[in-house]
Amino acid sequence: MSNCAIVGVNWGDEGKGRMVDLLTEDYDVVVRFQGGGNAGHTVINKKGKFALHLLPSGIFRDGVVNILGNGVALDPENLWREMSEVMSQGVSITPDNLMISDRASILMPWHRDLDELEERRLADKKFGSTKQGIAPFYSDKYQKKTVLAGELFYPERLKTHLKDLAEWKNLILSSVYGAEVYTEEMLDRWLTDYCERIKPFIRDTGAYLRDAQANGKRILFEAQLGSLRDLDYGIHPYTTSSNTLAAYAPIGSGFPGARVSRVIGVVKAYSTCVGEGPFVCEMFGEEAEKLRKEGFEYGAKTGRPRRVGPIDLVATRYGAMVQAATEIALTKLDVLSYMDRIPVCTGYIVDGKVTREFPFPAALDSAKPVIEYLEGWKTDISSIRTWDELPAAAKEYVLYVQRAIEVPITFVSVGPERESIILR
Ligand code: GDP
Repeated sequence: MSNCAIVGVNWGDEGKGRMVDLLTEDYDVVVRFQGGGNAGHTVINKKGKFALHLLPSGIFRDGVVNILGNGVALDPENLWREMSEVMSQGVSITPDNLMISDRASILMPWHRDLDELEERRLADKKFGSTKQGIAPFYSDKYQKKTVLAGELFYPERLKTHLKDLAEWKNLILSSVYGAEVYTEEMLDRWLTDYCERIKPFIRDTGAYLRDAQANGKRILFEAQLGSLRDLDYGIHPYTTSSNTLAAYAPIGSGFPGARVSRVIGVVKAYSTCVGEGPFVCEMFGEEAEKLRKEGFEYGAKTGRPRRVGPIDLVATRYGAMVQAATEIALTKLDVLSYMDRIPVCTGYIVDGKVTREFPFPAALDSAKPVIEYLEGWKTDISSIRTWDELPAAAKEYVLYVQRAIEVPITFVSVGPERESIILR
């Protein structure tokens, strides 16, 4: 069986975690290749309910090796907290089932400070950052001003490197923002409290992945966020600071030569978006409140109410295209069961013309949605497990979406539990 990537097609929060949790049964290795702890997956299985931020969602399957690749923002503090929480719920995490790339850059405590300070400076022009330090982290990574995880094994070099970085960061913290600076003692404490704890998990994950592939093991790449948040192809500048696309998976994992022939794009049956930025199909008022409540659309990391709207077929078709999705998992179809008729965004009006093409980001501000309605099914579908049992209107909804985005829908999810899935 070939390698597979599970990626988001929309703005994130599509339900990738539940799909990875389901599919890890068929894979030996699960790799996170980008992003950090700034978003979250919710996974519900026999072991309990878990909010994962940085840990790969394969962590619950015995025998599955989970990898944090070089492309992730490795935050030792948050990772250690998350590991402790998951372990306290009875899940075993050892260097045999979790491996961290020695080439992953480390997110420093000052990245979180700078994120917060910059959002405060921007005031009402803010980007809606989750303040986990992700943007300052990736800027520093590309400036080559980060420490690599593997440097923890070279204490003398690490000491000098950290001292040099702190000197530079302290200048920015104090003179630009008038904020508190970092002392050597603070960094030593951070090293002891968090970095030392994750050190046993650090190794050359590229070598592991190449060996795994050579031995016929199957690799699953797990993305964070979705197409529209991709740094290069998303709704710039309201994107994240990493590449959320399947094409980046080999690079961010440590195995640039990996072939990914199966790309499962996860699409939510309606739209949600967290934070600022254009969201053409956004619904407001009571209609929005009802959908938010039914879908329980509140951020896994921040608890912020998510912005909601009908499925956006323009953005979704574009999102599936940039992911090069070979198939689609449509999630949360059950949430729409309360609606008499279901709104669908089928086009955008840009400069007075209707288009199905997703426009350049700057044109999104003035774009207006074209909304059409499909018949609702008005019955609980959460216990249905086969395509044939689905009400005709629900089938028609799925087929309508499939025709519009031009990629086969192979999974329909009707609940958060592992087994609440219809295979097509
Ligand atoms: P991710 O980051 O893409 O994994 O998405 P989130 O975890 O933020 O959001 C998905 C949420 O929806 C989680 O709370 C899941 O448990 C839940 N969920 C996933 N699939 C379904 C579904 O088909 N129906 C319902 N009702 N909930 C779902």
